[in-house]
Amino acid sequence: MSAKEIAVGSSSINGGDPCPICLGPILQESYLDTCFHKFCFRCIKQWIKVVSSKVTKQLSSVKCPLCKTDNISIIHNFDGHSFDRHYVDPNTTDGFVLTKEQRYRLQCYYTESGLLADVFDVSRFWKLKNLLQPNKWLESWLRRELQALMQEEDVDIVLHHLAGVLDSFCKRTEQRHKQETRSTETFQEQFKSVMAEAARPFLTARTDRFVDELELFLASGINRDAYDAVYKQRLDKNNSREISVANEAIEEEEENRRTRVPPSLLLLFEEDSD
Ligand SMILES: [Zn+2]
Ligand SMILES: [Zn+2]
Repeated sequence: MSAKEIAVGSSSINGGDPCPICLGPILQESYLDTCFHKFCFRCIKQWIKVVSSKVTKQLSSVKCPLCKTDNISIIHNFDGHSFDRHYVDPNTTDGFVLTKEQRYRLQCYYTESGLLADVFDVSRFWKLKNLLQPNKWLESWLRRELQALMQEEDVDIVLHHLAGVLDSFCKRTEQRHKQETRSTETFQEQFKSVMAEAARPFLTARTDRFVDELELFLASGINRDAYDAVYKQRLDKNNSREISVANEAIEEEEENRRTRVPPSLLLLFEEDSD
């Protein structure tokens, strides 16, 4: 028995409700994920096993023995910062999983900026004010990029926010362009600061790199797949070591994400520990 188990067990002996299944003090305190009823980890795991054995197909949820609410997992090993989940259906994975393509894009963010600077002529793009031409591939590129960086499936709100900010920046610039001639540098700098400001609350430390990537993608004038192909070619040639370092970092990132406790859940555990 680990120190943690002993601590959890003894805190339950000194008051606290008994386990509804074995009626003894709760050992290895665990919760069902929806109704939050508390059981010994072993007892509730056993309960799921018994319920599952009565049906032929794999269950994805079980009803709580106390309140009959459907739950898909047991939350256990909670230490104040992280917890483990035991799923009723062992094939369930936790939350968002990066696709191969998203993972590859995340790798790119671990490489040095400017890897493709000589491939696409960024300064020409600004000189010709090509930003003012609509880019029909931007939305699909942005979506994939945000999903990879935020590790979330649903990025619609951020996507529309960024697209809206870019659109109004272009409109403002176009209007002013008729009256004054601003230097190419000013135009480029303003683009970067406006986009960084819009993206920072969502992308935090990766914001500046994201804006560089956005600029590069827009300057490339090609679609997402073609852009990826160019990137991949360059990345594979120069940076096999960098890729493996990036992969390790991404795995760590995914791991951290998996066990991160949502604030609402933390609150619940704190209340319960009294
Ligand atoms: Zn029990
Ligand atoms: Zn319940």
